[in-house]
Amino acid sequence: MSGFTTTIVHSDRRDPIEHGSLQKPIHATVAYGYEDVQDLADVFQGKSSGYSYGRQVNPTVSALESKIDRMEGGIATVCFATGMAAIGTLLFALLRRGDHFVSSSFLFGNTNSLFQSFSVHGVDASFVDATDVEAVAGAIREETKLVFVETIANPRTQVAALREIGELCRERELIYVVDNTMTSPYLFQPADVGASLIVNSLTKYIGGHGNALGGAITETGLYNWELFDNIYDTYRGADPKKWGITQIRKKGLRDFGGALGAEAAHHIGIGSETLALRLERQCANAKTVTKFLENHEKVDAVYYPGLESHPEHARAKELFRHPGALFSFELAEDVDTFDYLNRLEVVIKSSNLGDNRTLAIPVAQTIYFEMGRERRASMGIKESLVRISVGIEDVDDLIEDFDRGFG
Ligand SMILES: *Cc1c(COP(=O)(O)O)cnc(C)c1O
Repeated sequence: MSGFTTTIVHSDRRDPIEHGSLQKPIHATVAYGYEDVQDLADVFQGKSSGYSYGRQVNPTVSALESKIDRMEGGIATVCFATGMAAIGTLLFALLRRGDHFVSSSFLFGNTNSLFQSFSVHGVDASFVDATDVEAVAGAIREETKLVFVETIANPRTQVAALREIGELCRERELIYVVDNTMTSPYLFQPADVGASLIVNSLTKYIGGHGNALGGAITETGLYNWELFDNIYDTYRGADPKKWGITQIRKKGLRDFGGALGAEAAHHIGIGSETLALRLERQCANAKTVTKFLENHEKVDAVYYPGLESHPEHARAKELFRHPGALFSFELAEDVDTFDYLNRLEVVIKSSNLGDNRTLAIPVAQTIYFEMGRERRASMGIKESLVRISVGIEDVDDLIEDFDRGFG
């Protein structure tokens, strides 16, 4: 197996590409025609691996699926229109009314909202402090089918007890879903801690340029799907390791329809070639900027797993190649957060993360506004918290800008 970046940039060539084109072409087609109708029937019956209809498969999307599979060291990957489509489809395809799952309470805001909706439909979640494996263990019930965690939480950067939860899931025969968006497979491969299914929002670091939305689910092959009652007979094929991901592709992607477009897959595939290069720079920038802010008298707190003051600093060091490129901080009370942000000239006031540009957003007034002050307080989100997604700019320009904010 060659190195991470070599593998990505040569991934498309491993399958025959039309006319020797170095990039997998954009296949702007919905349907696929066959000379012999038997070939068409074979595709529909799963006897051959050809293409049936654009909602389920597209050659450009398949090339991206192979690429992500290689990055994560998985055995199969399915792509979706967005990260949220991947997460929603995963639960929809695998869980039934009466089932229960345990989730980290430190979640991407829309994932949190989505899980609340599932409870209305009879699939209940318990939210726990996932930095503590005992909290996860304590929430498991008879009806519990899976555990869902993120690697580094956004915006407060808590690091889940990823290895310990993996061991717990193996012992209790639970599906272990890890959302790897914040770390990406360059910083961390969840298969190393026993994850069964890996979620990535391709919109963030993997695509990296803020120009396309996408999501993916990767099967690691580590869960024994023979233990899982919710697999329909049709999907109990020859290889039990693939039962879950097959059901996700059919009952989830095909029937729910959150398919990734070929053009977006192309953008994400190109972006992914520089994932390692970008993250090396972004993480180095994040380390320098957080040190600057932590030492500034007008800053009350900085949350970044790369800082020794971070409660999970040692865990992040053990698990991740680098401690990520996202951090959050609170200004001293006598500094107005909005005035500070408005003085920044390089850093852009914007949502999203994983972009090449450094982005800043005041959390309570935007992405966590809908949940209200009380819920925010319970999650440790102060009204003055600012989230920063660090880009690839020259670090001196970033330091100058973060200093400029103080006026
Ligand atoms: C952004 C994000 C998602 C959702 O991804 P979209 O592509 O925006 O739908 C899910 N999980 C995490 C951790 C994210 O940061």
